[in-house]
Amino acid sequence: MSNSSLRSSTPFRKLSELGEQIEAATKRLKKMYLAGEFLDSIPLEEVEAASLLLIGQPFPRTSQRTLDLDWSALSQILQELLNPPPNTISQFFSETGDIGEVVRRIYQKSGGIRQTTLFSIPLTILDVYQTFSEIADIQGSGSRKRKMTLLRSLFTRVTPLEAKYLTKLLFRDQRIGFSEGMLESTIARKYNAPLELVQRANMLRGNVGELARITRAEGVDGLQKVKLRPFTPLLPMLAARATDIDDVLQQYDDEWAFEMKLDGARVQIHLQENNGATETRIYSRRLTDVTASLPDVVNLVEQEISVFSCILEGEVIALGPDGRPLPFQNLMRRFRRIREVEMMTEKIPVTLFLFDLLMLDGEVLIDSSYGIRRESLSSICGSIPLVSQIVTRNTEEATRFFQKAIQEGHEGLIAKRIDSPYKPGSRGKLWLKIKQTMETLDLVIIAAEWGTGRRHKWLSDYHLGARDPETGDFQMLGKTFKGLTDAEFEEITQRLLELKIDQPGRIVVVQPQIVVEVEYDEIQRSPRYSSGMALRFARIKRIRYDKTPNEADTIQRVRSLFDSQFKRKSQSDEVG
Ligand code: AMP
Repeated sequence: MSNSSLRSSTPFRKLSELGEQIEAATKRLKKMYLAGEFLDSIPLEEVEAASLLLIGQPFPRTSQRTLDLDWSALSQILQELLNPPPNTISQFFSETGDIGEVVRRIYQKSGGIRQTTLFSIPLTILDVYQTFSEIADIQGSGSRKRKMTLLRSLFTRVTPLEAKYLTKLLFRDQRIGFSEGMLESTIARKYNAPLELVQRANMLRGNVGELARITRAEGVDGLQKVKLRPFTPLLPMLAARATDIDDVLQQYDDEWAFEMKLDGARVQIHLQENNGATETRIYSRRLTDVTASLPDVVNLVEQEISVFSCILEGEVIALGPDGRPLPFQNLMRRFRRIREVEMMTEKIPVTLFLFDLLMLDGEVLIDSSYGIRRESLSSICGSIPLVSQIVTRNTEEATRFFQKAIQEGHEGLIAKRIDSPYKPGSRGKLWLKIKQTMETLDLVIIAAEWGTGRRHKWLSDYHLGARDPETGDFQMLGKTFKGLTDAEFEEITQRLLELKIDQPGRIVVVQPQIVVEVEYDEIQRSPRYSSGMALRFARIKRIRYDKTPNEADTIQRVRSLFDSQFKRKSQSDEVG
């Protein structure tokens, strides 16, 4: 980079100051105005980076890049550079609950970094964006050390305020009240583009920063040219919860398609033929590329589906030898696998069930109805099974289908409106899920952690334990911060502080007194806790002040629920 371009590129300090102004502005419109003016004033080649950094994304949403650096890496760098007195970090943290603000205060208190030659060259927006990319690109042995070297190079060149914003980016914890959705609105307002067009282009492209640049450079015409491309995953459409079949039928006056809800992993499969060779990539629900872990699925799709290009959606589940689904955890072992994939492919074979088709031979189908998409899907899927489905408006028929799903070891049903388009990223009422509810458990709060962000004033992460009648102790089954209202957080915090026994770090250990009724999706095997079990998606249904800890559920009851749920699934958990 020449000196002149270095000079003309915008300092990161400006973006940090903008962050402060946006945070301080109370009105949405003011926030959007500030962002719009800024993005319009900087050189065009910085717009993508600045837009993404402003919403706290070091990389575009659909990018596969990750920094892989945690708090211990940053804390080591802070020690080396500033050597903050012991306890300052935890003290600042409990005062602010905002990790970026903690780092700013540490910089400020220690008087900042000593002037160095590097420091005299201010960090630019592009420096930060490019260095983050370089950090993400470092892989293999010794990578942590090399990543830390680059990170340190950034943190040696910053003012306290810039340190705050670098930290927020590092942990993707922006919290200035400026979301991706607000950036979309900003772009629409600033360049007179219809908001729907901006949203649609963003959904198709998966990089809102690129869109900001395209719109500023080419306006509405540029946005209209944005097309769905294979290998840019779309956010999955999700289902809202319905209480039961009647609840579904009441919500829309026509027939519904009921599909079995398989308890596996969502996959979005992109396939494209290029000069006679087929390329296939598989993305997880969180848009991570998991192709390398699923060579069997790639082979199957390439064998069975002969089209020029398509984007398919489905669920991958692991089936035991008896043909019943294995617990979700077994499947996850396949997904995390990068080495010894072949061995695991044999040990945990997976089965693919398809349920949607979002693009076929270049034609985008997300605006077509579910009915049409499903029909096209069945015409191209070869021998790959589609998720079982019935179309009805009859309560008894749908209830029988629900029971069949449960008997076969599945989670329940997803009802889909036949006339519905595919809405990426939305959890609306066009799809409704009906699950079998698990019996709730009455558990005791044995410790609690100070929350972060909005919840930082409260003890709001609760460690839940079941009673062990043999020892009189409580055995931990998991943590949750879900389910309580603000008033309940406030109240329970006071009570827990009265019950405090010890406070190692941010955890407050309490006398096991408060009983809470807990809902959850599943009991999983877990090496993390002494009970060997953990609750998946635990949430507090209500506080049971009417119950004493002696009336809480026992670990034996949890174990028997675990066993019964396990019988519902396959008998053969012991794979691998
Ligand atoms: P939930 O995670 O409870 O919000 O449910 C949504 C998830 O159900 C999706 O992400 C899929 O992984 C899964 N799923 C299972 N069967 C289906 C189906 N037939 N249609 C759509 N999603 C399904």
